[in-house]
Amino acid sequence: MLIIGFESSCDETGVAVACTERGLLAHALHSQIAMHRDYGGVVPELASRDHIRRIVPLTRQVLDEAGVRPRDLDAVAYTAGPGLAGALLVGAGFARAYAWAQDLPAIPIHHLEGHLLSPLLADEAPDFPFVALLVSGGHTQLMRVDGVGRYELLGETLDDAAGEAFDKSAKLLGLGYPGGPELSRLAQDGDPGAYALPRPMMHSGDLDFSFSGLKTAVLTRMRALQDEGDATGHKARADLAASTEAAIVDVLASKSLQALRRTGLKTLVVAGGVGANRHLRARLTQALDDLGGRAYFPPLQLCTDNGAMIAWAAVQRARAGLIDLQALRGDAAFAVRPRWDLSDVCVA
Ligand code: ATP
Ligand code: MG
Ligand code: FE
Repeated sequence: MLIIGFESSCDETGVAVACTERGLLAHALHSQIAMHRDYGGVVPELASRDHIRRIVPLTRQVLDEAGVRPRDLDAVAYTAGPGLAGALLVGAGFARAYAWAQDLPAIPIHHLEGHLLSPLLADEAPDFPFVALLVSGGHTQLMRVDGVGRYELLGETLDDAAGEAFDKSAKLLGLGYPGGPELSRLAQDGDPGAYALPRPMMHSGDLDFSFSGLKTAVLTRMRALQDEGDATGHKARADLAASTEAAIVDVLASKSLQALRRTGLKTLVVAGGVGANRHLRARLTQALDDLGGRAYFPPLQLCTDNGAMIAWAAVQRARAGLIDLQALRGDAAFAVRPRWDLSDVCVA
């Protein structure tokens, strides 16, 4: 079965073709990062308009690269939420119209399920069950995953997401958007032990997170540096960046290990944009090695938003028998869900 998938929940337009037997055949991505950079964050209206500009050429490119004709396709998948309403509507509207024109079923996919199952796209994929650490720009969750559609929330952030902690701290340090990769780059020149920053909720006894206090601590340190006339010095900023990264990685690693202990599992899967962080990858790989288990990550370019994870999630759901293709064929109606709980796509 051949499925084309569309992602447009935020600032990346992604299109991909995946096959239930042969895996991912092709994927293409246009990131709007450069466009939003001048504003220091994503401007929703600009995002929607750019998705409109990109989605047709990307679709042509992907079909071409996959060597697939529209009439070879068996289904269309699209991100139905969560995300920016206008941005979601572009992908969903295009996907639904495309499906209608080709007389294909259109499958709504939950964006976080896409992230969650993306490590299964790696050459060496994990087996169920596993603990998943989902760390993206908008979410920080620990989940027990027993199979496709079988997700149990173990803990989540009470305020900022880990990606947000990176982005907001980077902004305080005067770095560009998105802050995660930039902060991580600056941190390479710094000493992670230079500043004793808080590790919020690390010993709270549950699997929840909180990152807003860390951001405040970075702000306080930055102000102190300004008072000392040192805020523009490369070494001082690099030290603060390295200390911030160390604090976030410490908390994420510690809570992941607590989740493994609680569930008795020895497989950890990391998904979402922060999963691209080198220190987090190194730390968790080592920790799982010590445990006699294993940590899995999505291929690096598939950590942040992309179409491949959406086509792939649809393939996984189809294989698991969770999609009623017939019901999704005739109905031309579609809806997006800017706020949408992952538990809504779990099997009962
Ligand atoms: P969500 O999926 O929750 O709706 P999103 O789609 O915006 O949010 P992703 O695209 O998965 O999130 O990830 C983007 C986030 O990942 C940003 O916050 C970015 O700073 C962060 N990020 C990307 N690369 C790195 C890195 N190397 N180190 C730390 N953070 C990173
Ligand atoms: Mg993005
Ligand atoms: Fe995302």
